[in-house]
Amino acid sequence: MTPSRNAARTFGLAALVVAVLAAAVLLPRPASRIEARTLVAAGDMQWYRGNLHTHSLWSDGDDFLENIALWYRDHGYDFLCFTDHNVLARTQRWVDVEKAKSGRKAYERLKAQFPDGLDERTVDDRLEVRLRTFDEVRQLVARPDFLLVQGEEISDKFDKLPIHLNASNVRELIPPRGGDSVAEVLQNNVDAVVAQRERTKQPMLVHVNHPNFRWGLTAEDLMRVRGENFFEVYNGHPEVHNTGDAEHASTERIWDIILTKRITELDLPLMYGLATDDGHSYHRIPSRDSEPGRGWVMVLAAELTPASLIEALEAGRFYASSGVALEQVTSSSAGLEIQIRSEPGVTYKTEFIGTRKGANLDSEPVRDKDGKELPVTRRYSPDVGAVLATVEGSNAKYECRGDELYVRARITSSKPHPNPSEIGDLESAWVQPVRGPGAK
Ligand SMILES: [Zn+2]
Ligand SMILES: [Zn+2]
Repeated sequence: MTPSRNAARTFGLAALVVAVLAAAVLLPRPASRIEARTLVAAGDMQWYRGNLHTHSLWSDGDDFLENIALWYRDHGYDFLCFTDHNVLARTQRWVDVEKAKSGRKAYERLKAQFPDGLDERTVDDRLEVRLRTFDEVRQLVARPDFLLVQGEEISDKFDKLPIHLNASNVRELIPPRGGDSVAEVLQNNVDAVVAQRERTKQPMLVHVNHPNFRWGLTAEDLMRVRGENFFEVYNGHPEVHNTGDAEHASTERIWDIILTKRITELDLPLMYGLATDDGHSYHRIPSRDSEPGRGWVMVLAAELTPASLIEALEAGRFYASSGVALEQVTSSSAGLEIQIRSEPGVTYKTEFIGTRKGANLDSEPVRDKDGKELPVTRRYSPDVGAVLATVEGSNAKYECRGDELYVRARITSSKPHPNPSEIGDLESAWVQPVRGPGAK
């Protein structure tokens, strides 16, 4: 090697070192950088399958709590939260066996499955049965591997718009709080759950239900709520319009708008998406009624207790499913990697969805044919919640380019849902969003 070439090489190396140092100092480091985290069953951490939205004869469901709990226990669930409308199962309540929703069918099933210890009486020649309380049902059906949780569907409204929130593991009944706008009704009820949680020190989870039920909630209402970071991206009730319509955004579109605005303008935490059943009908499965088994959450937790499950949900250690199971999910601000537990003969498509920094965030109202503004989620550019990549197969990876505000994933299988919320639903899973390198 000649001296001149050696000198050139030394200079080249020095320049390279300087460049690397300069890059290390000058390149913006995302403040929101998130270390990689892998969700996988290992050691104490196990996946628990559960449903967080359930109705019974305590409100407008058509079966007894203990029959419903047994259905879930027999169908591979680890936990179930009862969420009747504005009531907790702890008072004395008698029902007329013939007049109860679904009539004698529920009673006969109850007698067959739990023949002992039922309180019955005759009033004016009519047979009545006392509804077992939550604690009694827990004694009968819960086991170390099957947890029952008391919840409530706080069922409020503004004008005629239904505004429903579930409080899981609630201790005291929360009567609907009301308010002078949709956003205020939402916030008042969230605040009531948060206040009870703080006062009692009992872990509780509040989530917003079925935003498109009677088109009650818009993305703009939901994005601003504070102290609440969960909503139902998939609800099994056949009247909740998960996929929206020509004038109304789908729940997934609502989710992407919320995530984008929370990161860019509102400085609020990410919103997480749940799948739930919202079952009311338990005697004709499968049918077009609102039935159990349609959507659930898989939670990676250390123990099957309300505290451990709620801690895991709040940390985002879960996914929502209507049939697709995942082996593991690795997420960080660098991207997402998903391993699907594949079934023979079934194919899978994973869509990575997100919004990039600098995307057009303008929106305009939706109008009817006369030009009148409709009170629905506004229209945003397709860059909000864009499909960033699509991957076929049981392993899917997305590496961030550098400008993603967030990334989430939807996995759609080729297998039709056996008892869907909407006709034509394919079994799916929803991976929770992670903040990307473009987030502030
Ligand atoms: Zn509801
Ligand atoms: Zn409900």
